[in-house]
Amino acid sequence: MLEVTDLTKHYGDVRALEDVSFTLNDGEFTVLLGQSGAGKSTMLRCLNGLTSPTAGSVALDGATLDNSREDVAMVFQQHNLVEGFSAYTNALTGSLGRHPFLRSVLQLVGRKEKLTALDALGTVGLLDEADQRVATMSGGQQQRVGIARALVQQPDLLLADEPVASLDPGSAETVMHYLKTAANEYDITTLVSLHQVNIAAYFGDRFLGLKDGELIFDGGPEELTPGV
Ligand code: ADP
Ligand code: ADP
Repeated sequence: MLEVTDLTKHYGDVRALEDVSFTLNDGEFTVLLGQSGAGKSTMLRCLNGLTSPTAGSVALDGATLDNSREDVAMVFQQHNLVEGFSAYTNALTGSLGRHPFLRSVLQLVGRKEKLTALDALGTVGLLDEADQRVATMSGGQQQRVGIARALVQQPDLLLADEPVASLDPGSAETVMHYLKTAANEYDITTLVSLHQVNIAAYFGDRFLGLKDGELIFDGGPEELTPGV
């Protein structure tokens, strides 16, 4: 369970987050909605320890999160993959956690991690493309490799920051489909930030709405109305 309590982040005079509290239950697939500048990235960065909050706390299964934790995985808008390497090698780097990427370290990766990488590629529908170089793949496929890499990390919490923002609507839906399938299959608590309410409404089990750094909505699909 993820517990966010009175989370506040100020950048100088900018109140990026103000007293935000919510709880995510295990395995829940939640969408974080809000316009550009609402505080979504700041929220995700506080949850994965990339940013330290000005005030408030974040706890995962009762333990306070800090930036050394490896049980939080992140999928980025720009996928941050190594383009010259195959989908498989990129997925495998998830098993290195937050260590710097090193070819020599990869050679030490064991059979279990290799099987996990193939399993994750299968989950995102890319088993046949495992040996393909990421540079030759479409934006949607690349994002699915990013999801596979996050799965290989075997996280308790999966965060995705606008994972479909740079994709056309068709690819965006495909990527969201695989993200949701993966979260369900591996039973991972997932928080995805999106600014497209239509895609969010289709995939989310639960929705958090941010506006000017404040949590203005927390509810299920039946309570969601356009224009959050
Ligand atoms: P979103 O992801 O919803 O677009 P952000 O979390 O990126 O929102 O930004 C929330 C607010 O905080 C915006 O006003 C943004 O300009 C500001 N902000 C974000 N990051 C920084 C930073 N590193 N320094 C100063 N202001 C920032
Ligand atoms: P997004 O809306 O996708 O979060 P932004 O353009 O708001 O993208 O932010 C991109 C990066 O720039 C982030 O790392 C964010 O922290 C930083 N940033 C955003 N706004 C500011 C700002 N006003 N001053 C300094 N850094 C900022």
